[in-house]
Amino acid sequence: FKGFIDRAPRETDMELKVGSIGGGLKAPPGSGAFLVKNLCLSCDPYMRGRMRDSRASYIPPFVPGQPIEGSGVSKVIDSDDPDFKPGDLVSGLTGWEEYSLVRKTDQLPNQLRKIEQHDVPLSYHLGLLGMPGFTAYVGLHEICSLKQGDTVLVSAASGAVGQLVGQLAKLHGCYVVGSAGSRQKVDLLKSQLGFDDAFVYKEEPDLDAALKRYFPQGIDIYFDNVGGDMLDAALLNMCVGGRIAVCGMVSQHSQTDPQGIHNLFNLISKRIRMQGFLQSDYLHLFPLFFNQVLKYYKQGKITYVEDVAQGLEHAPAAFVGLFSGRNVGKQVIHVANP
Ligand code: NDP
Repeated sequence: FKGFIDRAPRETDMELKVGSIGGGLKAPPGSGAFLVKNLCLSCDPYMRGRMRDSRASYIPPFVPGQPIEGSGVSKVIDSDDPDFKPGDLVSGLTGWEEYSLVRKTDQLPNQLRKIEQHDVPLSYHLGLLGMPGFTAYVGLHEICSLKQGDTVLVSAASGAVGQLVGQLAKLHGCYVVGSAGSRQKVDLLKSQLGFDDAFVYKEEPDLDAALKRYFPQGIDIYFDNVGGDMLDAALLNMCVGGRIAVCGMVSQHSQTDPQGIHNLFNLISKRIRMQGFLQSDYLHLFPLFFNQVLKYYKQGKITYVEDVAQGLEHAPAAFVGLFSGRNVGKQVIHVANP
């Protein structure tokens, strides 16, 4: 990571450096750390916030000159931590590098997990069975009080979070419509992910009219991944007693002049519950989520689409692509095989 920015990220904000980790692939004795070989890394929109020199955020900024930090799946090579042994597969916070020294104390509670399931693709621990999947689960169940028959709108619907939001809502007998940035994504939502309907928001001159078309009776749940104009239009179309999970604002990340929201009064007139949330506040529910979603996956009730960039050298482009919608499905970077 080269340095702080106040605009949309570019590939040149990152550079590939060749360095030595020294120590002959050993965890320093007495360090309590373990050395891992990184196998796959996660690209997540929240990481853009860490490129800003702001300590006001819920997560500290990246350190200029140091590797980008993020979730990854890794294999333990050497360990000075009795809980982790060479050969263990783990998911947790690591670096965008081939090898990293990892310490339990640098992780959020419950963030570092040993991978026990060997019949699931490893990268799924960064998506379906990881933080994005958990975000979908928490947002729907804890924030939106999902119930059978709800009408559900989800934005960035084919992404890491959105695709699971839609499928979980379908499994609970809801009517689900997704918005996405391209026809390819809309086809995916309808033909592979079981959404009742989907539309390309970029092709809709009037989002309010579009939502009225898809939700003639109104929206019970809006799972908001994007903020901005879509949120404003959704407010106009919510049912009385509707719930909005304010999950993300990816449309606003790099706006110097964020779009105004005009329809907030609907919160009152329709008694809408609109709640922001961070998945990290609900980590006690992680085991419940994990077992539930793993079961659905093994029963063939859930599909998960990934966009895999091959090699660390393609990581900057993969990350930047999140903000133009280049990714189709959960963006991961494959670094090495176990
Ligand atoms: P995605 O896999 O959905 O990738 C990002 C997608 O955002 C892009 O593919 C693109 O899809 C869409 N996008 C990009 N720019 C814009 C724009 N200007 N307007 C509208 N859509 C845009 O990411 P995730 O599923 O990982 O994350 C989705 C959201 O959830 C993000 O806002 C993220 O910050 C948030 N989040 C929140 C968490 C929490 O705890 N609250 C935890 C995890 C994620 P398209 O082509 O469809 O436009």
